[in-house]
Amino acid sequence: MFAKVIVDVPAKQTNRPFDYKIPDVLLEWVEVGSRVAVSFGPRTLQGFVVEVFEQSDYEASKIKSIEHVLDLEPPLTPELVELAHWISETYLCHEITALQVMIPGALKAKYERQLSWSPLREEEEALLSFPEQNQLIAHIKNKGSVTFEALLAIFPEQGPWIKQLLRTGFLIESQIVKDRMAKKKVLTIFPPTDLSQLASQMEQLSDKAKRQKEILQFLLENSQPIPLTELMLKLDVGASAVKSLADKGWVELKEIEVYRDPYANRSFPRTQPLLFTEEQQQVFNPISEAVRASRHQVFLLHGVTGSGKTEVYLQSIQQCLDQDKEAIVLVPEISLTPQMVERFKGRFGDKVAVLHSRLSQGERYDEWRKISLKQVMVVIGARSAVFAPFTKLGLIIIDEEHEASYKQEESPKYHARDVAIERARRQNASVILGSATPSLESYYQAIGTGIPNEDSNYKLLTMAERVQGRPMPPVHIVDMREELKEGNRSMFSRGLYKAIEERLNKKEQTVLLLNRRGYSTFVMCRTCGYTVGCPHCDISLTYHQNSKRLRCHYCGYTEPQPHECPSCKSEHIRYFGTGTQKVEDELSKLFPGIRVIRMDVDTTTEKGSHEKWLNLFRDRKADVLLGTQMVAKGLDFPDVTLVGVIAADTVLNLPDFRAGERTFQLLTQVAGRAGRHQLPGEVFIQTYTPEHYSIQSASQHDYHAFIDTELDLRHSRGYPPYYRLILVTLSHEQLALLVRTAESYVSRIKELAREAGIIMYTGNSNQVPELDIMGPVASPIPRIKDRYRFQCMLKYRGEAHISNLVRKATAFFDDLCRQQNLQISVDVDPQLLQ
Ligand code: ADP
Ligand code: ZN
Ligand code: ZN
Repeated sequence: MFAKVIVDVPAKQTNRPFDYKIPDVLLEWVEVGSRVAVSFGPRTLQGFVVEVFEQSDYEASKIKSIEHVLDLEPPLTPELVELAHWISETYLCHEITALQVMIPGALKAKYERQLSWSPLREEEEALLSFPEQNQLIAHIKNKGSVTFEALLAIFPEQGPWIKQLLRTGFLIESQIVKDRMAKKKVLTIFPPTDLSQLASQMEQLSDKAKRQKEILQFLLENSQPIPLTELMLKLDVGASAVKSLADKGWVELKEIEVYRDPYANRSFPRTQPLLFTEEQQQVFNPISEAVRASRHQVFLLHGVTGSGKTEVYLQSIQQCLDQDKEAIVLVPEISLTPQMVERFKGRFGDKVAVLHSRLSQGERYDEWRKISLKQVMVVIGARSAVFAPFTKLGLIIIDEEHEASYKQEESPKYHARDVAIERARRQNASVILGSATPSLESYYQAIGTGIPNEDSNYKLLTMAERVQGRPMPPVHIVDMREELKEGNRSMFSRGLYKAIEERLNKKEQTVLLLNRRGYSTFVMCRTCGYTVGCPHCDISLTYHQNSKRLRCHYCGYTEPQPHECPSCKSEHIRYFGTGTQKVEDELSKLFPGIRVIRMDVDTTTEKGSHEKWLNLFRDRKADVLLGTQMVAKGLDFPDVTLVGVIAADTVLNLPDFRAGERTFQLLTQVAGRAGRHQLPGEVFIQTYTPEHYSIQSASQHDYHAFIDTELDLRHSRGYPPYYRLILVTLSHEQLALLVRTAESYVSRIKELAREAGIIMYTGNSNQVPELDIMGPVASPIPRIKDRYRFQCMLKYRGEAHISNLVRKATAFFDDLCRQQNLQISVDVDPQLLQ
């Protein structure tokens, strides 16, 4: 038997499978999706098996053998291996890069596999009546635990048998991982098997040993092993009492392995399905029908904030579980939405695994193992959870489908939404894209005028009302230019000021949004206008309050805050714009005694801190929750009746054709936090451009007004959803060489397009062009880490095979990349245009 292996060298020459022979002793273990070690040139490399087959075209003596397998169970399923191929074709990346992104980081660390005999299956052992295997079993029992390699070396013939024992649970595999990955062990108290002993032992204890008695009493009643720390907390006893019981030999104290479940110590009150509203029922019916029929269908669920989308998700998943199928739920950034996790855990309990970006590698690995061992049926997680190794997928849900964070910015530059749809298509699963502000791309597909492709049959489902007829909050747009004219120099308009004051009096809560992305915190000289920039990248440095230093967000360069202007020596050089810290200071000045929780990058670096802040806010320990985008998402607090946006213009001024869309989305999301329950809400949006259509339509909660204007604009400028984009960025240390290369790159593409008969944009053609190439021009950030950057943008209609051209053109510059350290990065369907 032979295997095709993709080796771990991300380069063009190695971006194809290589043939290896599968040695007999590994026959049982090498499958599609296995990770193997193979010799490649002078080195031994890791690789993924993408095919197993019987006849190789190469001369048998020339084919090398696989050296060993790295995992006892393949970390990838055959379906994921195929999906990786699709990703590499679609997003123009190396196949190994796509394969690697699918497995948890912990697997990439060094580890050793140990096999041991399971104590749990003792009674059934008699059923194993294969005398020829007794030797093997005796060997393992005798050793306690053995490495897989050692076992196979002694019993090379017995691969199938070992595998059988593993699959049936007689053998247990544990991974002893070096470095951070060690399995977590917990000191646990085991009561004796014969509980009647405990009763008599209690008699023997003197009255002074009250604690010990309590412990024995507890064990008598519960008779289960219990972690030491848990018992100490429950009974409020010290470790010494337990130790003295263990010393007497009455109980046993052992370290046992546990999964590092980050939610282990939390209990989630079970929730029951709610009775649907009419609208919920209406959107649920077709979803439920598709799931039951195992029919692939993409649903775009456009539901206003507070319309009860989550309940639709939950019951759709229940439908899936009833069919014995699995479900994946993607959320934009899970640490920002602890409430989502609560809702899913509350409904499905232990069936849910959570893949959290802030988990340690070990924790992530444990959650991933639960999925691959089929111990869970539902996964909730950020972008990469789309690769959960399920094999019976029934449904993939993408909440807030419009969010840019679903696009990965480093290679493979995949979009989780598109990967999810492709995966679902292959498994006959359904997809729900949920949002109050669907992306133009998705909406356009759903109204049936999208770029023709296999998935243009999205079904649009709409929920236009909030649950229980709660009204959408009224939105006041405040023109900050008028405020200034009237002499108000504060960052709070008079309207917002009064509204906050009212909430304080009524003991209701306020959410304040300050979007820092954009201009906020650069340092500028008020005398001459000089701004402090990074010496390596052409962008301004950002002021950091905590360290009082300036930092470059691209390369990490820092320097102390200047006290005088390097250009004109004026002392009036200071940071400009409004940081959350500054807003907090002003709030305390205006409203003495006000309790503010500030959530931004500075206050949320610690693990679990989002949750901590949000819990404090929910428990009414603060009057105001102030923060960056992270306060806009998914929060559902009954006492929030006021939402204020300090400056709506920060996103609007980004150099990006999606700026209007992003502004509309953000304002709609944050406005949706107000008045979600009994108390009515109110929203203030402060802006310097009140007439902008994004701000106007967000204030009227009018998605359709927004989308009509935005679609017209996109159409006239030739942007998505009418055209697709590929952004190619070239970078080099020498500007002259870079400019020349960028020019010749574009010529190359044009030449290839002509050869392929693709109609190019010429400006005066009667034919509808299929491809337009913009550039090369300097990138919006023209230099990063001392490398100059030039870009060209390809706009094309969906049906043209442009990615092929880009692949060919890029390959043409391979030598230059290797020899001259030129870099070419390709971004298909880019979300960020810098
Ligand atoms: P969305 O995600 O669409 O913004 P949510 O799913 O958070 O909305 O629902 C808003 C609120 O309405 C939540 O507090 C939720 O518990 C409640 N809710 C949802 N569906 C129902 C229902 N059928 N009956 C009563 N309350 C509901
Ligand atoms: Zn100056
Ligand atoms: Zn820099």
